[in-house]
Amino acid sequence: MTDINFLADKKSHLIDLFQELETAKEISVKELAAQIRQIGFQCMRCGDCCIGEDNSVIVFPSEIRLISRSTGDFWLEIVEPPKLGEWDLDGNFHTLEWRLKKRHLSCKYYTLHGCMIYEERPLLCRTYPFFLTHIKGLLCFSECNGFGKEIRNEESEELADLLVERLIQEIKESIALIEKFDGFERGTPSKEGLCVVHDSEGEHRFNRDI
Ligand code: SF4
Repeated sequence: MTDINFLADKKSHLIDLFQELETAKEISVKELAAQIRQIGFQCMRCGDCCIGEDNSVIVFPSEIRLISRSTGDFWLEIVEPPKLGEWDLDGNFHTLEWRLKKRHLSCKYYTLHGCMIYEERPLLCRTYPFFLTHIKGLLCFSECNGFGKEIRNEESEELADLLVERLIQEIKESIALIEKFDGFERGTPSKEGLCVVHDSEGEHRFNRDI
């Protein structure tokens, strides 16, 4: 179970996040691109990052809308809330953020022909397998078949630019989430009640059986 109510301590979290935002804005794209070139990377289009139980793509509300416009899918056809969360006194289940829906353990938009929403794919997919730490903006990476392959200057700079954009967006989403979060009194697990997803837009409430 996740302790969501820790977010209600807004002041200390916001001070940290604004500091992280300043650090993120100072990251040198050129230096980051040089680090990526040193590691070496080319996407092999193997789709391994789109399949598997452990792969989970976190998406921002603005990205969900973009996918919705391009596919015609409704919000809850595109994303689902995480399974971890907490109950309030009325039996509502509270959780944070959204993940792309899965079909047979793969991303629902993955097909044998590749990504169905390639042009609108989320920042997380565009920057995989790399990510930047929130605290110091350090370059990290997940498992991938594409490491060690030569990458052109232009491509590495484009990737570095997207990584910084993603980090800044993630921090801004967290700031907006905390600013809108009101907290709730903790209850016990219940089969009744709604699902309440807290994100940068506030609360999204819907029936749990949807
Ligand atoms: S959105 Fe596209 S790139 Fe991202 S996990 Fe799904 S199929 Fe893969």
